[in-house]
Amino acid sequence: MRSLPSGSLLRVFSRERATSIYAIESTELLQTIMNRLQAMPPSMLHLGYASMGALLFQALSDPQEPEHVEMQWAVDGPFGKLIADSLGTGKIRSSISYPKVEVSNLHEPLGAGVFQVRRYTPEQNQERYTGLIQSQGDVRVDLAHYLRQSEQRRVLLDMFIDISWDESNPKTPFRINKAYAYLIDVMPGDGADQTLGQWQDYCESLGLLSTWDIQAPNPKMAAQHILEFLAPGESKTLQYSLETELELFCPCSEERAMRALALLSANEKKYLHQDSEGKSEKLLMTCEFCGTTYHIADAG
Ligand SMILES: [Zn+2]
Repeated sequence: MRSLPSGSLLRVFSRERATSIYAIESTELLQTIMNRLQAMPPSMLHLGYASMGALLFQALSDPQEPEHVEMQWAVDGPFGKLIADSLGTGKIRSSISYPKVEVSNLHEPLGAGVFQVRRYTPEQNQERYTGLIQSQGDVRVDLAHYLRQSEQRRVLLDMFIDISWDESNPKTPFRINKAYAYLIDVMPGDGADQTLGQWQDYCESLGLLSTWDIQAPNPKMAAQHILEFLAPGESKTLQYSLETELELFCPCSEERAMRALALLSANEKKYLHQDSEGKSEKLLMTCEFCGTTYHIADAG
């Protein structure tokens, strides 16, 4: 499953400060995910942060040997398990066990558990790195913590998603107005800690991303605007070392669904939905990421 491009991811490299800076605009992309999963705003915030996080983690990999990134939060909160996979630059799919769960707090934490990241190269399906940390229940905190602790990177990260209620639209009553992220990654080397300190001071002076006045007619220009905030003197002369549109991408297929079915026991199959005609020889399998439903003949 693919969808039309619906967001932007940019990266520039500042020689002056030996730093890579990433910016994401993903408003339309997250709206599509929200509508598809019929997610409520509290679960959508987790899904949105995780989606932007997986895109950023993938973009951090070596362009000569691009990695696939799979993230999973195995946590005990009301939303269940959270997954975000970036299977290629700018490509994302994500899911959460209970997208429709109603909680009273918009910022209800994910719960206690672990956050795991798997990086691998697609050709050889070769494991590059798998890391695990305790989750703090907040995706943004976990992402930064993971990059610092497991990958020893000097990073700063901020994300912002603004959701409002759209009364005129009973079928999809929530509107994502803004969805932005940035990541600052200081290269290792002499003076790197000092450079990170300077970035910290500068980002503090800018305030949270949620307070920035980002005005742009399209996703790419919004991402550009974020970079202009972060590197005001340099932004006009910086070259994009990565410039990609965002798209939903799920490699599910009928063949894969059949293989998954073959692994289930007869007892487990009983719990799969039968098709609308009630014939037991055909089973419905729905992909948890993209919602595509496959009608599969059960061979046994
Ligand atoms: Zn799928």
